[in-house]
Amino acid sequence: MKVVMIGAGYVGLTTGACLAELGHSVTCVDTDAARIKALAAGATPIYEPGLDDLIRKNRDGGRLDFSADTKGPASRADAIFLAVGTPAGANGDIDLSYIEAAARQIAPVMKPNTVVVVKSTVVVGTCRRLREVIAEKRLGLDFSVASNPEFLREGSAIEDFLHPDRIVIGADDRRAAALLEELYAPLTRRQTPVLVTNTANAELIKYASNAFLALKIGFINDVADLCEQVGGEIEAVARGMGLDRRIGTSFLSPGPGFGGSCFPKDTRAFVATGRKHRARQSLVETLVAKNETRKSSLARRVVAELGDRARGARVAVLGLAFKANTDDVRESPALSIIPLLQQAGLSVRAHDPQAEANAARHLSGVEMHDCLYAAAQDADAVVILTEWEDYRALDLKRLAKAMSGSLLIDYRNLFTAQKIALHGLRYVSLGKSASP
Ligand code: NAD
Repeated sequence: MKVVMIGAGYVGLTTGACLAELGHSVTCVDTDAARIKALAAGATPIYEPGLDDLIRKNRDGGRLDFSADTKGPASRADAIFLAVGTPAGANGDIDLSYIEAAARQIAPVMKPNTVVVVKSTVVVGTCRRLREVIAEKRLGLDFSVASNPEFLREGSAIEDFLHPDRIVIGADDRRAAALLEELYAPLTRRQTPVLVTNTANAELIKYASNAFLALKIGFINDVADLCEQVGGEIEAVARGMGLDRRIGTSFLSPGPGFGGSCFPKDTRAFVATGRKHRARQSLVETLVAKNETRKSSLARRVVAELGDRARGARVAVLGLAFKANTDDVRESPALSIIPLLQQAGLSVRAHDPQAEANAARHLSGVEMHDCLYAAAQDADAVVILTEWEDYRALDLKRLAKAMSGSLLIDYRNLFTAQKIALHGLRYVSLGKSASP
């Protein structure tokens, strides 16, 4: 099947490469000419484990190519995927201008029976709206608009795409459903459940799923706060909860608040949709507010732990990406917490295995170090914000020797207090009482 992917970002590139891997002929298109030039020259503009190899393999196999021109590839496609950004707009709503612009670009050249597939995360009713946008430009053209929400996680995007928990197909006509069923047949033959429903349901499934997962994170953060007050241990509590299959073990790790390009934006959009349609999502409203205050309260806690020595103290922040295995810093807790530490008079150095360049664009006055031990040199405190394996495996002896102070604040609970105490460091983590 001939597929065009409009938008070669995290989702578009991964989806494009994976659909090529399933045997389809895919052209990824992007308005960012530099991005297309880099891709054409064999460079992958984002960090995603395994993506380089997958792109190379499918390019070499003649199933994947890149273009800055939308019209040519779109005029030959059976399916045109829209995977452009749907960033936050005003009042929690999302900005649909990119996806509407993409629809206007493809409309004049689409051949009859083309299925336009909305991969971007969009509020309920958007597929119907895009149908109107295209129909206005192509009176009488027979085409479909379908929803196929994406559930991949950055950092494990390829695995998530090729082995999903489910595939959701939102189609308002049989042609769109049949095309998507055929497109995904190599996966559904391997027993991946597929849900075929209408576009409105598919759009709602995406938001309700993300809001629910974000609620789990917010909930466990609240329980961690309670554990600290009453002598509980969050790991034991979370494990005991997660063994109940109705609850499950995932998304039960406390942390510095959720970030990334999806959860913050999607929860706000879900809240805005609820308000607009007079069905307020009050649980999610509270979650959104609490997630913001969590970052500031954890920044204040760093200052409080340093006590009298806070002003002028040197702090090494380990982790700038919103989570491990990505270079994405969109709405990363580090981007909120670091400026608050600076405002409190702390001087900040930072390290991240992949996200330093992206974070540097949003931070000022932060010394970036490619070596984490160099970042920690003479530091009064080290604060871990991202759960990179590199940090879990760090040489605590070397770290303690590099630091001038002894405070290790671990907002990802990578260690145990006992292990840290062996190295003469004072350990602060989430959901547990202070180190012995
Ligand atoms: P991104 O910003 O990484 O990529 C979007 C790309 O679209 C950019 O490269 C941009 O230049 C390009 N673009 C914009 N307008 C265009 C046009 N008219 N024609 C061609 N290219 C155009 O965004 P992303 O993270 O890939 O997210 C895309 C969508 O997928 C969003 O709706 C997002 O909410 C959703 N989503 C993202 C993730 C994730 O983990 N990143 C997961 C699931 C869903």
